[in-house]
Amino acid sequence: MNPQEQWAPYLKRCEALAKEAASRGEAAVGSVLVRNGKVIAEAMESTRSSEDVSAHAEMEVIRKARSFLGTDLSDCVLVSSKEPCLMCSYAIRYHRILTVVYQEPSGMLGGAAGAYPLLLSREVPENWGPPVQCTQMNDKKALG
Ligand SMILES: [Zn+2]
Repeated sequence: MNPQEQWAPYLKRCEALAKEAASRGEAAVGSVLVRNGKVIAEAMESTRSSEDVSAHAEMEVIRKARSFLGTDLSDCVLVSSKEPCLMCSYAIRYHRILTVVYQEPSGMLGGAAGAYPLLLSREVPENWGPPVQCTQMNDKKALG
């Protein structure tokens, strides 16, 4: 199975969550956390409704998983409709998530392809683990 096929179902779920967020007046972002092939947490952007700038979809999905898995999420894959920003990248590294799959780039604040690629950096605290393997899936047609 190629990566496109492997991650398409999760990205589709992220897209559905992103659409739901947009329908609520939020930025269109949805994220899921996958462990052993199963979605263990999902979240959508909620910064406006919660009046909390940290309520990005990626932060919310990490908060949910952390509540029952603790701080070591190294066996989880974060899948998101958008490239995690710097703030979310900090949380991803802190929780030692090793793989991120996303669809849309986030420009200069993106944690993988932006001006400060925190997801890929080796200049982080030792206990954060190795750089994150980031994969951008940009072929929307493949998602059907
Ligand atoms: Zn973010």
